[in-house]
This record gives sequence, C-alpha cells and structure tokens, in this order.
Amino acid sequence: MKLVCPLCNGLYKIEYKCVKCNTIMEDKGAKVNYYDDYSPYLLDEISDEVDGVRRDECVHVFQCPNCGHRGNYSIERKEY
Ligand SMILES: [Zn+2]
Ligand SMILES: [Zn+2]
Repeated sequence: MKLVCPLCNGLYKIEYKCVKCNTIMEDKGAKVNYYDDYSPYLLDEISDEVDGVRRDECVHVFQCPNCGHRGNYSIERKEY
C-alpha cells in the first residue's frame, strides 16, 4: 500500500465548479509539475511541508475553460 493521488493516477476524477461562472473546471495537472517554471525545489529536497502543503495531499491546478479562472485544490492522497 502506498499513498497516491487519485487524479495523477487516473483512479477517478474530481470536478470543481468555477467560483466565478459555475462552469466545471478542467484539471491542468499537479502543481508540482509547475515548480520547474519558477522554483528551485528539487524532489529529494521537499520536506514534509512545501508551501504549507502536506505530503499526503497533491495540489492540482484547475482552470475554467469558460472564463480562464485558475485555482489550486488540494487532493487527498489515498492508499492504493
Ligand atoms: Zn495529483
Ligand atoms: Zn469560470
């Protein structure tokens, strides 16, 4: 058993509605994938908390296809 993010592993989908226009937002992937763009974090240097995010949570970026609003959502990792 290990903790995995259900979204990263395609186990199921979670749908969030845009707070601005109520459209179902699209999962743009785990935020960790975005760190390359602007952060010096290396995987083996990530401590128990990175930006206040616990290890048993995977932060995903969701974007509204209608108005472009973006949000970060913490996805709880599940034992799998
Ligand atoms: Zn994930
Ligand atoms: Zn929207």
